[in-house]
Amino acid sequence: MSRPFKTLDDMGDVHGKRVLVREDLNVPMADGQVTDDTRMRATVPTVTELADRGAIVLVLAHFGRPKGPAPELSLAMLTRPYEQLLGRPVRYVDWEGDAAAVAMLQPGDIALLENTRFFGGEEKNDPAVVERMAALGDLYVNDAFSAAHRAHASTEGLAHALPAFAGRQMEAELDALDKALGSPEHPVAAVVGGAKVSTKLDVLQHLVARVDHLIIGGGMANTFLAARGVNVGKSLCEHDLASTAEAIMAAADRAGCTVHLPYDVVVATEFKPNPATRTVNVHEVGADEMILDVGPAATEALGDVLKNCRTLVWNGPLGAFETPPFDAATVALAKTAAALTQDGSLVSVAGGGDTVAALNQAGVAADFTFVSTAGGAFLEWMEGKALPGVAALAR
Ligand code: ADP
Ligand code: MG
Repeated sequence: MSRPFKTLDDMGDVHGKRVLVREDLNVPMADGQVTDDTRMRATVPTVTELADRGAIVLVLAHFGRPKGPAPELSLAMLTRPYEQLLGRPVRYVDWEGDAAAVAMLQPGDIALLENTRFFGGEEKNDPAVVERMAALGDLYVNDAFSAAHRAHASTEGLAHALPAFAGRQMEAELDALDKALGSPEHPVAAVVGGAKVSTKLDVLQHLVARVDHLIIGGGMANTFLAARGVNVGKSLCEHDLASTAEAIMAAADRAGCTVHLPYDVVVATEFKPNPATRTVNVHEVGADEMILDVGPAATEALGDVLKNCRTLVWNGPLGAFETPPFDAATVALAKTAAALTQDGSLVSVAGGGDTVAALNQAGVAADFTFVSTAGGAFLEWMEGKALPGVAALAR
């Protein structure tokens, strides 16, 4: 497969070369313990491959949001957990004496450099910071798709200062995203859900021109229903976006994209776990009721849409899935998508913080073709934006 960017396969002999590898190690921690090592685990293939090929591996990562040195956000605290995960020694290297420390390293050694954001100029992509980091390495690998929507020194600047390559994680993410929206097999369905239309306007506008079916769920469906004259009662709804919703539906129409809105919904008068609910036609929502999930009939029809599609891209839950029983539609449609994927008839790519949580809740994340954990970067990609960290890797 020829790609618009170079990968580890294009690096040639890296024995004894110092390779700066940008990873995402911004893991959640409590009481000095890593509480979810998903991001850390995702870095293992690239780091171990380079070490096994005899490179001197210099891992670059940010942690938290410091605007300069902040001892409580030192990556020193990740050295032990990272060693345990990799099953190999990891040297911690701070930003004082780093050049001397790196000069001592041997082929196959792995070092974790200090928090990149201890440089105030990191987020400003300051050329002096780029130069400072570039001096430590011979080659640069960006393996942090989740940080690629930011043009920082370690995510973008370095790609211009050193020969640049995509790591295995970055490569997998870009391949999956290309299969889903870049050059997908049609028909393509997109599920866009979540709380508000206002946060996903750019996503909707980008998708209508590219997908065959746009499935709108969650709180955003209420805004579209209201724009069509449906009384949504006390539902979360952005009434002031009615004309925007209409414009999106008109654009979809022109592009030959079918917009699917729920025709039955699950409503309640109180938003709390397991309240009294009714399943009603969208035209029967009471003035004191809230739409909190897509109804079972519409969910089944959406499953039939997916059965006729080859590709699915999903961002945003169909209902208020954190509060039972309003996860039902999201779980049911996710299970359908997972089964179709496992049958080989659907390529399914999903992303978004709450979406990933909902797919995990449904127990199907592993059955999707690809689940992106890159929140902001995934959304910007769904908006059709060029991600600076990815663009800088272009051949
Ligand atoms: P993601 O993080 O995957 O991009 P969002 O943050 O856009 O997703 O949306 C997720 C939120 O939307 C969840 O907190 C969920 O409870 C909420 N939500 C979904 N449907 C509804 C609804 N009908 N009413 C209120 N909130 C909803
Ligand atoms: Mg969210």
